Formats: sequence, C-alpha cells, structure tokens
Amino acid sequence: MTIPLTLETIRQAPKALLHDHLDGGLRPATVLEIAEQIGYRGLPATDETALADWFRTRSHSGSLERYLEPFSHTVAVMQTPEALHRVADECVRDLADDSVVYAEVRFAPELHIDRGLSFDAVIEAVLAGFADGERAAAAAGRPITVRCLVTAMRHAALSREIAELAIRFRDQGVVGFDIAGAEAGYPPSRHLDAFEYMRDNNARFTIHAGEAFGLPSIHEAIAFCGADRLGHGVRITDDIEVSRPGGGGKGVGDPVVRLGRLASILRDKRIPLEMCPSSNVQTGAVASIAEHPFDLLARARFRVTVNTDNRLMSDTTMSNEMLVLAEAFGYGWSDLERFTINAMKSAFIPFDERLAIIDDVIKPRYAVLVG
Ligand SMILES: [Zn+2]
Repeated sequence: MTIPLTLETIRQAPKALLHDHLDGGLRPATVLEIAEQIGYRGLPATDETALADWFRTRSHSGSLERYLEPFSHTVAVMQTPEALHRVADECVRDLADDSVVYAEVRFAPELHIDRGLSFDAVIEAVLAGFADGERAAAAAGRPITVRCLVTAMRHAALSREIAELAIRFRDQGVVGFDIAGAEAGYPPSRHLDAFEYMRDNNARFTIHAGEAFGLPSIHEAIAFCGADRLGHGVRITDDIEVSRPGGGGKGVGDPVVRLGRLASILRDKRIPLEMCPSSNVQTGAVASIAEHPFDLLARARFRVTVNTDNRLMSDTTMSNEMLVLAEAFGYGWSDLERFTINAMKSAFIPFDERLAIIDDVIKPRYAVLVG
C-alpha cells in the first residue's frame, strides 16, 4: 500500500538541503529573546505571532531587494558568539525535526562583525552551534549532518578574504563558498579572484545566479567563475524554448523542449540547480508555484534540487517545499526521492560520505514509502 503524500508523511521522509540561509531561518521567539538580551530596540513587533507575521508579509514583496530588507533585524541579533551559537544550534534542531538528514547552511560572516567579533570568532561560534545541534539531534534519534558554506556579499569587496576564511576552516566544517545579495548590477565576475582562489585550493563553490537577473549572470557564473552549483538559476528558462506539436493548445501531445547552448551546458555538466520554490515566488522570480520552471527542468532531466532559502521569511520548511511542488505537479514518493538523491549527489562533502547517506539512509527509508 502506498503511503499518501501529506505534510505529515513528507515530514517523516529523509531530506537533503543545499540552500538555506542561517540568518533567514531564526525562530521568531529567539529573535525577540536575543533582542531583549542585547538591547536591540529596532524590531517591528514585540510578540512572537506579530513578529512572525511581519516577516512573512514583508517577504511577499515581489522584488529581491525588498525581500532582503527584513534580514537587517535577524542579522542585528546575530552579533555575539552566544547568539550565533544559539541560532546555529536551533537551526540544526529545527532541520532535524523536519527529517532533514543532510544540510549545507550558509551565512555571510561580514554581516556579523558589528560588535567587534573577528571573522574567525564568528565562524567558530557558528560551527560550535552546528556541532551541538548535531549532538542534540542524534540524541533525540534524528541524526543529521550539517556543514557550512560561507557567503560573501556581492555588493561588497570582501569576497577574497571570505574565500580565504572558507579554506582556513575547511577541515572544521566549512565545505564551500558562495556569493549572495542584490544580483542586478553586481555580476559574479566582480568576484573572480575569490573564485580563482577557491579553484586554486581544490575547493567548491556555488553562486546565487539567475534569480533576479537573467542569462548573463548564469553565463558568468558558469563560464568565467566555474561555479560548481547555481543558487536558484530559474532564469535559465530564458534559454529554453518550449513548443507543443500540432500548434499548441492543451492536450496536444507532449511539449518539445529545445535548449540553447547555455542551458545545454548546464544540463550536460550536471550543474545542480538549488531551487527554492516559495522564495522564488516571493521575490517575483516566478509568478506562482504552478508557473515555477522546476517541473519543466525536472522533466528535461536537469539536476534540480529542492530548497528552503529562508525558512523564517518564507514561512516554510523542506517538507512544505516538497509538498507545494508535489501538489502543483503531481509528484509521488519516487520523484521526491529523486530530488533528494539529486541534492545528496550535489553536496560539497566527499564522494564516499555522500554515497553513504544515499545508500544507508535515503534509499532504505524511501523504499518503505514508495511501497
Ligand atoms: Zn539564497
């Protein structure tokens, strides 16, 4: 008997997450408590429900720039070692509660030095929080592996220094590098030296590209910078032509998909796309979940993965992102398993570790669900 696909059953299925921002996933209660402790008076609400509502409504903004505004408040309460440790620890526990078994969580150290912390102190606090969260989750019977990506802000000029930080902490839990922030006007090639430094050190990186800005951003990320993965990448559809045989119209045969050269190389090289359905709708990158290119790209066998981006701002979880896609496109357990394995194959941890999670955790647990 096949188990029906609901939020509750998806919550039991193992999941892998590659694109989740630490400063986008705080618990509203934690934001309030830390603000109180450190004397931060800038919060737009004073109780948990109102604050959660505020984050949610502000994030349904239709533009990436406005979507990014509420982060000033989460970042403001992540300026001490204790706060960073707590937020990282809770992040791991929350993901484990949702049966995420592997996650790469990213954050930008340069946003957490307002009260005088060094970059190293920032990273150390977050990694210690992750480790404590992992221990707590394992003790609760929900083992999870969490690794860190360090992000540089694309409008700033610290990317090389941040890349060096990623390498310095590569054996302590940092598995890669990323650039994030407003995309228009800040092409990936501005940070070429950081990407070259990563490649020089045989290290991996992903680039937010093709979210708010189109093909040139994706082209630079792949051709100039050599990105191992793309954050979002939804605008790759600008390089894909879809037509229906028989002159279009509903039900006239399967769509014919023609890829341009950039879309082709993404698929040929199996470049993973870190897609974040709810966030993509909220920033206006796509009009609705039903119109999200996830399904088109999945059917065309791109390496698509499902991600949360910002659990607080998008009021979501990995299970919820899986559910909205399943409801929009009629996916079943075997599809969710494929997306999960796609993500695990695309992780920045060593090959043997990826394989162990796929073979020992993901496949056996999905075998039960698929029935
Ligand atoms: Zn992101």
